[in-house]
Amino acid sequence: MLNNLRLRINRIGFVAALALMPAINVNCTKKQNIAIVSSPDLAIQKQESIRNLVAELNGIIPQRPVTKVKIHPCYGHYNPETQEITVPVKTDDYLDPVAHEMGHAIYETRLKNTLFGDFWGQIYQVSLGWKNYQLLKDDSYISPASLTIIHEQCNMQWGHGTNEPSELFASALTIYRRHSDQYLARLYLPGLPEKSRRFGKLVFLFMRDYVFDGRYFSGVDPFAGERFFDHVGRDLNGLEIDALSSICQDDQLPLLKYGLDSYALIHIFRSHIRDERFFTALERHFQYCPNSRDYIFQLAAEAGLEDLRMDPIPGNERFLLLVIKGLADQNARYRAMEAIVALKLRDSKLLEPLVKILAEEKNDATTAIEALAVIGDKRAFPYLEKLINRPDEIGQAAKKAILSLKANQ
Ligand SMILES: [Zn+2]
Repeated sequence: MLNNLRLRINRIGFVAALALMPAINVNCTKKQNIAIVSSPDLAIQKQESIRNLVAELNGIIPQRPVTKVKIHPCYGHYNPETQEITVPVKTDDYLDPVAHEMGHAIYETRLKNTLFGDFWGQIYQVSLGWKNYQLLKDDSYISPASLTIIHEQCNMQWGHGTNEPSELFASALTIYRRHSDQYLARLYLPGLPEKSRRFGKLVFLFMRDYVFDGRYFSGVDPFAGERFFDHVGRDLNGLEIDALSSICQDDQLPLLKYGLDSYALIHIFRSHIRDERFFTALERHFQYCPNSRDYIFQLAAEAGLEDLRMDPIPGNERFLLLVIKGLADQNARYRAMEAIVALKLRDSKLLEPLVKILAEEKNDATTAIEALAVIGDKRAFPYLEKLINRPDEIGQAAKKAILSLKANQ
């Protein structure tokens, strides 16, 4: 996501570059050889519909089409190595899982690690704000009868768009291709917040312009004459930041903590670590949500392990202040220390609060020692030296920390 950060900085240049990119060619007439592996009783008509949909969507990824469809009672999957999809066909909505798995194939082949993929990453972040992802829950578009079958016979959830960008894409593609009219009707429901409507429109434009080469599957195109890239600067960036603020408001973060894959928030943390408005949201959350303060540092640490270690954030005073507050908080201090270690925060302001934690000799003292080694301030020596003769883990950690401090002098 480092790329994402850099791209955001060059937004203007890169919108211009976008306009020059060739459109994706959709070839929906050519039928490839698509093998369907199933028990012989799968109705010919069903097989034919599956083949037609796969062939059509393969038109978006002619360089790496799906060549085999396996049938499974409950399970859906895309295997990029073998170019196979596995789909359940139990319900009348059997073409939805086909579209969903083809969505994964299209994401892998066309979007991953591309400019379009970065845009989709932003859309994904916006989807997490104001519960926008509910618009793209594919299980809310199939019939109640199908849902019952899935739940009762397979004990499974259908749809998981909040998990990661590719899941949201697979769900969005299914809805755009299979339930466009219903989707647009929801966009115009009077109770839908304006921000969610703007989000929904962006998704429609993204699918129409960059995935389906201008094709739409609703009776009318309510956004004819508008293009996705007209909205990138004004809408997407603005919405993205607002969505982040909404996620970090009191009622949302604890909910996300338990309700969503933490990947989502790590992704956000990683992309916005330098963003003023993101920090405002974090600070507000820290002030008002005592029960999930530790979570902020957990996310920072997890995000840091992957990208930020390469491009750390020690200059960010506001983040440091947050960490210092975290160290003073009984419930958050362990995670705050983890974040210091993972992000390699080298700042002397952290010395005093860490020494205080050390003096208590509670079971997080070893993490405090690790953090002292990271901040690299030689004033830590006398505190560590006092501990080296202890026969326990604390003594071990102190010896290690002294060695690493000396090595870094
Ligand atoms: Zn999926």
